[in-house]
Amino acid sequence: MIASVLPTYSRAPLSFVKGEGSWLIEADGRRFLDLGAGIAVNALGHAHPALVDALTTQAQTLWHTSNLYEIPQQKALADKLVEHSFADTVFFTNSGTEACELAVKMARKHFHEAGQPERVEIITFSGAFHGRSSAGIAAAGSEKMTKGFGPLLPGFVHLTWGDHDAIAPAITDRTAAILVEPVQGEGGIIPMPDQCLKGLRDLCDEKGILLILDEVQCGVGRTGRLFAHEWAGIEPDIMMVAKGIGGGFPLGAVLATEKAASGMTAGTHGSTYGGNPLGCAVGGKVMDIVADPAFLADVNRKAGLFRQKLEGLVAAHPDVFHSVRGSGLMLGIKCVVPNGDVVTAGYAKEVITVPAADNVIRILPPLTISDAEIDEAIVRLDRAATSLETA
Ligand code: PLP
Repeated sequence: MIASVLPTYSRAPLSFVKGEGSWLIEADGRRFLDLGAGIAVNALGHAHPALVDALTTQAQTLWHTSNLYEIPQQKALADKLVEHSFADTVFFTNSGTEACELAVKMARKHFHEAGQPERVEIITFSGAFHGRSSAGIAAAGSEKMTKGFGPLLPGFVHLTWGDHDAIAPAITDRTAAILVEPVQGEGGIIPMPDQCLKGLRDLCDEKGILLILDEVQCGVGRTGRLFAHEWAGIEPDIMMVAKGIGGGFPLGAVLATEKAASGMTAGTHGSTYGGNPLGCAVGGKVMDIVADPAFLADVNRKAGLFRQKLEGLVAAHPDVFHSVRGSGLMLGIKCVVPNGDVVTAGYAKEVITVPAADNVIRILPPLTISDAEIDEAIVRLDRAATSLETA
């Protein structure tokens, strides 16, 4: 008999009942060090007092009105995002994949309004993950995500990640945009080198097409800059954000330049819940904290520390770990043994990591993780690796 919860996940036998900062407490009382942060969502850890206050204050005041009316919390958050980014305008969603839907619609509409309605194609790259909506899976294009779900949304051109020579010839008079993650997350924590991101920006400018960045996983301070593309010194035309922006409350956004968003006039897009007062109250507080240069400087300091210690851990366990990679506190360890075994061994030692493609485990701690917790993470990961060596 099918489970009452649709069985689309293979879940670990863990059930957390409480979260405190970098820690998750299991129903049996065990305390797990959370290096997954709900897959890069709990940017400020669990139950951050400022976020609890923002949410409960809003919950006691007003939950929902719909986008038929002005939503001051939404305007306040949009103003903050505009102030701290390339963007001129923001649309709020509830998730990353909804942001993908709008990014694709916006790019197509832009060219439709510009008198080039044939420009509908979006170029994407292997290993990409843009969510599970119809546009998201079509954008990723992998068999794993698309098999059985056809007919797929047409208009995506899939190139091999790293095949630079293939990009320019793939841009035709039907191309609207290039869509890429500055750091692939699900694909195995693979940062796009700064010069490649710059190259994509130049190519988009040269060919008159849009650059869409998916910063759902790598944005909002995760890499040590507010947005990952800042490291490359470039700006996109459209950007998808989600996960960390809500700190655990479901919230996403599409940020865009005025030019890219020019076709999105009243009635062209909408969402019942997107930008609701609860989500935006929390998102506003997340932005106040994460956009502070001192906070980001500390993320970078801790990222350097964590990475250095992970390098030592990897060197100490060459039969388990292969190498460390990533950007800021978006780190990955490529494993020698199956990554699932490492994640499971971590559970036994009360430390949480998240698997990704390419036999990688992801280390995506709360950005608020302390130095002492980084030390403790290494101790627990070391125990997990040792248990696999002696197994
Ligand atoms: N884009 C990227 C880069 C992601 O990592 C994810 C989720 O993991 C998504 C899009 C989809 O976001 P959501 O699961 O909120 O729909």
